[in-house]
Amino acid sequence: MRGLMQSQPLLISDLLTFAERFHGQVEIVSRRVEGDIHRYTFRDAARRARQVAYAIDAEALEFSDRVATLAWNGYRHVELYFGVSGSGRVLHTINPRLTPEQVRWMVRHAQDRVFCFELSFLPLVKAICAQCPSVERWVALCGQDKLPANTGIPNLVSYEAWIGGRSDAYTWPRFEEDTASSLCYTSGTSGDPKGVLYSHRSTVLHSFAVSMPDALCLSARDVVLPVVPMFHVNAWGLIYAAAAVGFKLVLPGPSLDGASVYELIEQEKVTMAAGVPTVWQMLLGHMQGRELRFSTLRRTVIGGAAVPPAMYAEFADRHGVEVIHAWGMTETSPVGTVATLNAAQMRLDPQEQRRLRLKQGHALFGVDMRIVDELGQELSWDGKAFGDLQVRGPWIISAYYSGGTCEYTDPHAALQDGWFATGDVATIDADGFMQITDRSKDVIKSGGEWISSVEIENVAMLHPAVAMAACIGIKHPKWDERPVIVVMRKPDMELSRDDILALFEGRVAKWQIPDDVLFVEEIPLGATGKVQKNKLRALCRDYVTWAA
Ligand code: AMP
Repeated sequence: MRGLMQSQPLLISDLLTFAERFHGQVEIVSRRVEGDIHRYTFRDAARRARQVAYAIDAEALEFSDRVATLAWNGYRHVELYFGVSGSGRVLHTINPRLTPEQVRWMVRHAQDRVFCFELSFLPLVKAICAQCPSVERWVALCGQDKLPANTGIPNLVSYEAWIGGRSDAYTWPRFEEDTASSLCYTSGTSGDPKGVLYSHRSTVLHSFAVSMPDALCLSARDVVLPVVPMFHVNAWGLIYAAAAVGFKLVLPGPSLDGASVYELIEQEKVTMAAGVPTVWQMLLGHMQGRELRFSTLRRTVIGGAAVPPAMYAEFADRHGVEVIHAWGMTETSPVGTVATLNAAQMRLDPQEQRRLRLKQGHALFGVDMRIVDELGQELSWDGKAFGDLQVRGPWIISAYYSGGTCEYTDPHAALQDGWFATGDVATIDADGFMQITDRSKDVIKSGGEWISSVEIENVAMLHPAVAMAACIGIKHPKWDERPVIVVMRKPDMELSRDDILALFEGRVAKWQIPDDVLFVEEIPLGATGKVQKNKLRALCRDYVTWAA
């Protein structure tokens, strides 16, 4: 017997329609590429998103055709989020920190037909446009008055001219909720990038899940600053959640330095901000020397990489800001787990609470997880056994995108027995709190034992003169690999090899202490702000600790 309830497809356009009706006056505030602040409401965004849909229809795009964006977090990007997906096309967000070669590769793979870009990326677009034959329309995200002449880019139009003058009476089409809505390529460190193709259903379900009180606890009384870029896993779903929940959105544009982010938080009375640790490092660094304080910020969501305990302490102890540590991946939409505490855990002593909050946390309802050994056998949830983390659920990938109009090749390619292997190594404790010990490729295997590079980095980061630290394994004739810690000093601060090594005494087992400390001017970061350990390993290829 079937239930007798209505069956409505879960569509992204409905999020916007809801926001327009119930949160029409709520503001979306953006810092523009030009540096000034733009301010309007969800009602305005909805109106312009419908104009975007008309503009796309005018290009004669087919259902599911791809529209690429190369853009920062800003209001026009919000309009494209809803206008492109809402009209049944696929929004392909591209990371502008990639090389022209990588961007070109992705455009050709996805066969994007329209390409919208921030004017500041004009040189990049000029470099690739001749080799992107699928693109029929190039749209510069600016007013007609700002559009440069003689760019050599064919069919170039300004965004305002493209959508301007069009009706805003568009009726959003209805279609199946499993229809593709957006596309994001993973920043693969080896091989070609892999496309993750989200659906309307996965996106809407993820919006419900992240908003819940024991997830990111989002409400219509919040003012949220997603520093996490809209080109990386849909800004962790916060744009869609804003429409569903009705919180004020504050978008930082290209200005992610500590001073600009701090100014925006204070001016717009931000209550919650979300980003990767490297961004918070810049913000806290800016505040430290100046004795600055937050007047409204209550919570910060940190993910994308483990929260260093020292950063947690700075937020919590110095600023009274709650740190919500979350884990996820491009392949998981992204939020999979969040480290929020239940009533019993809140009664634990503060040290123990912090220990839990520094883990990656419990799964959200909808995400199932397990850890397995090399043979695929499930490991126990005792907080000690560590193995490969696998997940499954309605907003977890089932297969990578094979390009063009093909949705997938082999649906089992990304899965093992219906589970997605994350490539992360983790423990899970009896309460279901998961802790990442490493990326499987970053674990250091020394004498048959595994050393967590993350744990070593966290110890090194305790030193106030350390700006950033990364631990890698170096080949060793006896032990197979040995850990070495690569350290970037804070400017004008003294720091010696012995200062660093002294930190490890009593904090980790003797055999886990790094064999050496290498000081560098800069630690290479990838396009999403993560340490590129493959580059560090390449730099240290000929380095030997055992002869040192
Ligand atoms: P991406 O798909 O680029 O977002 O990268 C996903 C990867 O980032 C995960 O597989 C983890 O290795 C890492 N990651 C994400 N969140 C965390 C976290 N909270 N702690 C540790 N690693 C994380």
